[in-house]
Amino acid sequence: MTESTLSLPSGDWPTLEPGWVWLCGAGPGDPGLLTLHAINALRQADVIVYDALVGQEILSWAPEGTELVYAGKRGGKPSAKQADISLQLVDLARAGKRVLRLKGGDPFVFGRGGEEAQTLIQHGVPVRIVPGISAGIGGLAYAGIPVTHRDVNQSVSFVTGHDQTGGPTGSLDWEALSRASGVLVIYMGMKHAPTIRDGLLKAGRPADEPVAVVSQATLPEQRVLETTLDAMVEDIANAGLEPPAIICVGRAVLMRQVLDWQALMRGEAPRNLDPLGRGKPAEQGG
Ligand code: SAH
Repeated sequence: MTESTLSLPSGDWPTLEPGWVWLCGAGPGDPGLLTLHAINALRQADVIVYDALVGQEILSWAPEGTELVYAGKRGGKPSAKQADISLQLVDLARAGKRVLRLKGGDPFVFGRGGEEAQTLIQHGVPVRIVPGISAGIGGLAYAGIPVTHRDVNQSVSFVTGHDQTGGPTGSLDWEALSRASGVLVIYMGMKHAPTIRDGLLKAGRPADEPVAVVSQATLPEQRVLETTLDAMVEDIANAGLEPPAIICVGRAVLMRQVLDWQALMRGEAPRNLDPLGRGKPAEQGG
């Protein structure tokens, strides 16, 4: 595709100047979830340094001649190369390139975007941050799961399933998380699903609490598993679900019975118009 086909609504869009790095979120996968600032960056960049979770279709929108540099790290591996990536961005900027650093979802949500931006600023490289739609919100919305719902939760916790060494997150206080949040949204949780299940059960979450696992969210390959806390590990294995996937724990998952809009688009009927058992229409509050 050529640059001209990527037109933006008229407006005063910022210029990506030589020597700058724009750190952009690309959203969870569906190219339609890119922001206009991300499109504006794609149009101007000399070089795009992208992660494993950024789709080829999005990259194909860059004008011909844009240099594409893959900087993916597979989940769970030690982040030995993070310093290399950050310093590579510094080098590219110092070479006078217009640099677009494109990351899956939102750059500041479990994406090490904070570290990269800090390195750039420490080296005197000017940056712009462009947020993106995070998989733990937008990906769940594509599955028909609202991360908050008045009848379910007043807070939501975003949790990473593994720590920097690739092991299960040792520092997570599952009891505190369970007490504080009716809904838990777990990124990078597939590898350590048994640890997550055990931690939550031990913290007192009910064994039959609804759980959804959404893999490849927002993409044509999206798959959604509805299960329960005690059955999730076995069901993930039986379904053959692979990362990237978001695990959502909590009664908000039940809302999918009415809000699975992709099923409705396929002509299916809603499974249950009142999955939380309110006993009155949703527009009647209280
Ligand atoms: N910055 C990203 C998260 C990066 S961490 C964001 O804001 O979304 C990588 C994890 O994100 C994956 O292990 C997975 O848990 C989640 N993830 C990213 N894209 C996803 C997708 N399309 N579907 C499901 N999970 C996704």
